Amino acid sequence: MDDGGRTGTIFNIQRFSIEDGPGIRTTVFMKGCPLRCVWCHNPEGIEGRKQLMWFDVRCIGARDCLKACPLGALELGKGGMRIDRERCDGCGLCQEACPAGAIEVVGRRITAREAFEEVARDEAFYRNSGGGLTVSGGEPTMQPAFVAELMELCREAGIPTALDTCGYCADDSLERLLPLSDMALIDLKLMDEAKHLELIGVELAPVKRSAATISHAGIPVWVRTPIIPGCTDTDGNIAAIAGFIKSEMPNVERWDLLSFNNTCGSKYQRLGMTWELDGAALITKARMEELADVARSSGCDVHWAGVTKSEKAQE
Ligand code: SF4
Ligand code: SF4
Repeated sequence: MDDGGRTGTIFNIQRFSIEDGPGIRTTVFMKGCPLRCVWCHNPEGIEGRKQLMWFDVRCIGARDCLKACPLGALELGKGGMRIDRERCDGCGLCQEACPAGAIEVVGRRITAREAFEEVARDEAFYRNSGGGLTVSGGEPTMQPAFVAELMELCREAGIPTALDTCGYCADDSLERLLPLSDMALIDLKLMDEAKHLELIGVELAPVKRSAATISHAGIPVWVRTPIIPGCTDTDGNIAAIAGFIKSEMPNVERWDLLSFNNTCGSKYQRLGMTWELDGAALITKARMEELADVARSSGCDVHWAGVTKSEKAQE
């Protein structure tokens, strides 16, 4: 039902986040993303609609969920739970019926005011740490009316706002949200056009255009780059991003390199999705430091974070 954007679909509200902008923040994760990064660490954020996760280790075979489903979308056999995801409308009756908590609906519809009330709980922490609200995803510009209302409510309450975008945005959505954002975070992942299309699923040009728009909005900008083995982890890629930042993005205050995390395979499994990077090795600390040195040629304040493989394990 179209309610003019008063409600949005989110998949998480993360309190006490210290990675999504300055200070202590609450990050609201919007559901739905136009990209298809092969390494995506938040696969539950890709689809815009609600989805079921089934936890095989929790399932006790009670079958209450099957009886509860009005659409006959569930089947439990020897190979586990088969979910007809086309048929399922995310009503949540199976989740309510399961005595073991083995089925969860990912995604909830929420009004901007309800989201604001959750965000406002930590107002004292924001004030003391220089933090605030970050709207992330998924991709927040896909639900612009909801995000605009949430940001307006925060600003009225004196809570600083940040927009965290993948850069593949409709121009009018970005133009609507930037004046409501006290800062922006944007992902720059790959500068090779063919690889961008192959590994991220969309063309690079619109991302570059959004990056230029954001960096001329007169607000501080942080860039983030996931360092993914075999995808984004070459000196050439990082040097190309550094060159782009240097020539096109005068407002970048900080650039974070985020190392590949291989712990999200189980999320893919629970969502009935395949993860192409299952089993891929972590990056070493030494390699992250080398890439950070390449990134410093941009003149930015460069940081790196995330899990790394120990040098010993590499031998
Ligand atoms: S932009 Fe982020 S949420 Fe979207 S597919 Fe890529 S990694 Fe996943
Ligand atoms: S969420 Fe609703 S439609 Fe989907 S499987 Fe559960 S009960 Fe059936």
